[in-house]
Amino acid sequence: MNRSIWVFADYRNYFQNRVTLQLLAKANQLAAQIGAEVCAVVLGYKIDEYVAEYIAHGAQKVVVVEHRSLQKYSMEKYAVLMERLARDYQPEIILIGATAFGRELAPRVAKRLGTGLTADCIGLEMTEDGLLRQIAPSFGGNLVAEILTPEHRPQMATVRAGIFQEIPHNNSLHGEVVRIPLPKDLPKDRLRLIAYQRQPQRDQRLEDARVVVCGGRGMGSKKKFKKLFELAQLLAGEVGATRPVVYAGWIDNDALVGQAGRNIRPQILFSFGISGAIQHTAAVTDAEFIIAVNKNPNATMMKMADVAVVADANQLCSALIKELKDRIQT
Ligand SMILES: Cc1cc2nc3c(=O)[nH]c(=O)nc-3n(C[C@H](O)[C@H](O)[C@H](O)COP(=O)(O)OP(=O)(O)OC[C@H]3O[C@@H](n4cnc5c(N)ncnc54)[C@H](O)[C@@H]3O)c2cc1C
Repeated sequence: MNRSIWVFADYRNYFQNRVTLQLLAKANQLAAQIGAEVCAVVLGYKIDEYVAEYIAHGAQKVVVVEHRSLQKYSMEKYAVLMERLARDYQPEIILIGATAFGRELAPRVAKRLGTGLTADCIGLEMTEDGLLRQIAPSFGGNLVAEILTPEHRPQMATVRAGIFQEIPHNNSLHGEVVRIPLPKDLPKDRLRLIAYQRQPQRDQRLEDARVVVCGGRGMGSKKKFKKLFELAQLLAGEVGATRPVVYAGWIDNDALVGQAGRNIRPQILFSFGISGAIQHTAAVTDAEFIIAVNKNPNATMMKMADVAVVADANQLCSALIKELKDRIQT
């Protein structure tokens, strides 16, 4: 049996959520080092278009289980199926995106397989002896741990979106498709999905935004924080936030940037009234250019910034909005 690295294909919100594609790209790099093949595992119904997409983004093989009963979200069925497939095919590594779904699925699969799982990885590497080095924040983000799973297989990790770059879509790539029939003895669902409601969509995902306007407690109030939306719109960007801001209800949890939220890699990051705690800054280190605004010139965020403006965040935000509007009109 070929050695393989599996990527669980979470295709819900395909066009917004690229983490599966990012993992396929990383899996290709890792697989090249250990002579393994990269395999996407797709469970669901009417999923052929995704199978083709994953091949075009670097899956050398796609294991497909297609059945009407898999169409709807069923954690129990998916976990048992993943366990069975992993026992049959014995992948070296299973990577799962740290989406809401992936975070629920991965520990269940790992428990069933009796193996370890590193959650929310921010890096993956192969060691010289062919083990997966799983790099993840730990102890409240104050440390970055490097975790190995030397004895149990598969080695399993969930990985945040936005850490790795996807391989651009390439129709000339080829992959083998292996279709597996749905086992007859899957457990009956103990949970029943009564309704499914989409959350209102952002224009784009924070992880993919080229400009992010991030606000912290220094913005002062919910009303003042709202100005950041206007600024972001003028810059065709997205708004991110720190934890105190999310906790205060100035913006929803989706906007949280940091260890407990999203990793971002914009070309330009504006940081308004943010002190620069490690739990926040760890998620913005890939920003290409940082402009920080703070009353305190010694704030960590100011030291990280390419341009540090000592000013009132709220006033500077208003001034920028005015300037941009004036320029658009002239
Ligand atoms: C387990 C754990 C996980 C966490 N995860 C996250 C996470 O994912 N994301 C996250 O952001 N935090 C996270 N935190 C919280 C983190 O430690 C910090 O508390 C948080 O990032 C601070 O947010 P802040 O910079 O908005 O607020 P503060 O630290 O209070 O900083 C406010 C800043 O605004 C400046 N300021 C004040 N008034 C003005 C003004 N008028 N004009 C300009 N500047 C002004 C101040 O000088 C200060 O620098 C986590 C903490 C823990 C323990």
